[in-house]
Amino acid sequence: MTDFDVVIVGGGPAGLTAAVAAGRRGWRVALFESNDDIGGMAASFDVADIRVDHGSHRLHPAASAPVRSMLEELLGDDLQVRERNGRVRVDGTWLAFPFRATDLIRHVSPSFLLGVGRDALLRPMRRPKAESYAELVRVGLGPTVLDRFHGPMAHKLWGVDPALLSEELARRRLPIRNSAGLVRMVARTSRPTGRVFLYPRHGFGQIVERLSEAALDAGVQVFTGQPVTSVVPGVGEVRFSSPLGGVGAGRLLWTGPVAGLQHALGQSVRSPVTHRGLVLVCLVLPHGPWTEFDAHYVPDPEVVFSRLSEPRNYRHDDRGGPRTVLCAELPCSPGDALWSASDEELMARVVEGIQFCGLPEVHVDEVVVRRLSAVYPVLTVEGRHQRANALATVDHVPGITVLGRQGRLVGDNVHHVMDMALTAVGCIDDDGSWNDSAWREACRRFEDHVVQD
Ligand SMILES: Cc1cc2nc3c(=O)[nH]c(=O)nc-3n(C[C@H](O)[C@H](O)[C@H](O)COP(=O)(O)OP(=O)(O)OC[C@H]3O[C@@H](n4cnc5c(N)ncnc54)[C@H](O)[C@@H]3O)c2cc1C
Repeated sequence: MTDFDVVIVGGGPAGLTAAVAAGRRGWRVALFESNDDIGGMAASFDVADIRVDHGSHRLHPAASAPVRSMLEELLGDDLQVRERNGRVRVDGTWLAFPFRATDLIRHVSPSFLLGVGRDALLRPMRRPKAESYAELVRVGLGPTVLDRFHGPMAHKLWGVDPALLSEELARRRLPIRNSAGLVRMVARTSRPTGRVFLYPRHGFGQIVERLSEAALDAGVQVFTGQPVTSVVPGVGEVRFSSPLGGVGAGRLLWTGPVAGLQHALGQSVRSPVTHRGLVLVCLVLPHGPWTEFDAHYVPDPEVVFSRLSEPRNYRHDDRGGPRTVLCAELPCSPGDALWSASDEELMARVVEGIQFCGLPEVHVDEVVVRRLSAVYPVLTVEGRHQRANALATVDHVPGITVLGRQGRLVGDNVHHVMDMALTAVGCIDDDGSWNDSAWREACRRFEDHVVQD
């Protein structure tokens, strides 16, 4: 008999959701997480006694019914429905984001409006010259939106000219890809009910905290500080090891990076998919709120951050004193100058950006910096087969199922990866056998996920 019926590697939202679902089926389940804390990218942490997320996180209302009902059960009234109130800088002007028709009429620059209108009329004349991120946007939305918004934003996030980024990345990232879709979106988001999101009262990390409690309640054994470093596959039993020693599992659900599994299996990792990282710079201000907005989106190349959020504005929470925290997301590559910059340099660059954008002055009490090394998979035109090739090396290994954001090399949201986790557990029959055809079909469905910002 194996030590566990199901073992999950990784304690982010995907792994924790799988743990809850498998534990509730009465199986012997364990979860191994390499960090000392659970939650992965979706965890929250304290800065100046304020709960702060790893960059701007919101739960999208598009969550599937099973995911939504699990979250409602776990969070109850703490799952708040909030109205989005962000701003985006287009052509040097702040526009309400999500867009609102009246705000657009008042604030959008005439040259931008004319450009977008002309591009919509000329849409039938445009043909793609290549299968790239830039071409998908240029053909669908037009050169004005490409040159003044999506192009610079994509360049900032992935660090690569969007003409060299794959079309697949654009399909997975951009929910709106043509002028008609833009008009429909503005019609929807002009109504307050059309621009809502869900957010837990005590920070986004409350989701993983409640999932972890539910996993323990379901009898799951959770081991933190336990990276899984070697795996020997097999039908009936998968053997693996962590610092705790060797363990056997009927099925292993892997939610960590694909390259980590390839290493653990002893495979040689050829041309891996590279990832863009993120430096998160949290500025503590003595008084809040700093502005009424939840997030500012900034494509301008002169500004070091892509987004600046104020966590207190994401929720209604009676806790907390007079202070507020601003979180600046600085996309960069592990090891580059920005990644290696000191806290003081990073703070200075963020403050410069705030001044450049004409945002209110900041007096910073304290700065806290966190670094995430693998945030955005970089899929290029040249390496467009890299993702499929990497998945092919791990997708049919006996006894192992690969899921989650890093597992499937995607930029998916929490509701997507929770759905993957529920589906994966549903593919294990009561006798422990694996329904491979159902999983393959589900993986085809996951390919249609589009990231919601
Ligand atoms: C800046 C930013 C903004 C975002 N905004 C949103 C948003 O608004 N809405 C939204 O829904 N989503 C958002 N996301 C995405 C969300 O954070 C992810 O979808 C989610 O965290 C992915 O969950 P996961 O479990 O697949 O992976 P992760 O959260 O990456 O968790 C994987 C876990 O596996 C562990 N692990 C890795 N290797 C091993 C190993 N060998 N052994 C043991 N453990 C291992 C890791 O330590 C980690 O804890 C955002 C992400 C970022 C970075």
